[in-house]
Amino acid sequence: SAAAKRRTGRLPQYCPAAFGANGRVRCIRNRERMIYMTIALTAHDAKKELMVQFCIAYCGILSHHSLCGVLSRHKLCATGTTGKLVSEATGLEIQRYLSGRQGGDQQIAARIACNEIDLLLFFRDPLTQKEAESDRAQLLRLCDVHNIPVATNIATAEALIHALERGDLDWRNIVHAG
Ligand code: PGA
Repeated sequence: SAAAKRRTGRLPQYCPAAFGANGRVRCIRNRERMIYMTIALTAHDAKKELMVQFCIAYCGILSHHSLCGVLSRHKLCATGTTGKLVSEATGLEIQRYLSGRQGGDQQIAARIACNEIDLLLFFRDPLTQKEAESDRAQLLRLCDVHNIPVATNIATAEALIHALERGDLDWRNIVHAG
């Protein structure tokens, strides 16, 4: 199909296992089955309110947009304070790790290293130097190691949420199944 042809140019770099001997996509989105992704959230202090607003917009409480509820259809985890603020504002169920400074970043990094995180939304404050910046750099490095989609600002986060909803990230399920 045209869709499969479009994908063949893009998928192998992420997931060669998705391709059969003839180069065709073997496993594509099954729209009948609920597909869960695990989304990790973290935000610097200056960006926490933005993260809360973003999650409100995509959790379905205020919005009647067709994307409403997208976050509630997936599994969420977050560093301590970010997770607390988002869950209080939205009612979303979030697995909360330690606060970033106490090791929460590294807990998320460990899950990324185990390829258990499908999408990282990490709202950075580029204007503030943080003591824990090396942990943050490590998070981004591991996303690159494992080809995990990652957004460091709200514009990219929004683009990724739309991509998630369209099924563009479903190749992550093939990674898990493999
Ligand atoms: P927090 O961690 O969500 O617990 O605040 C992130 C950070 O340290 O900025």
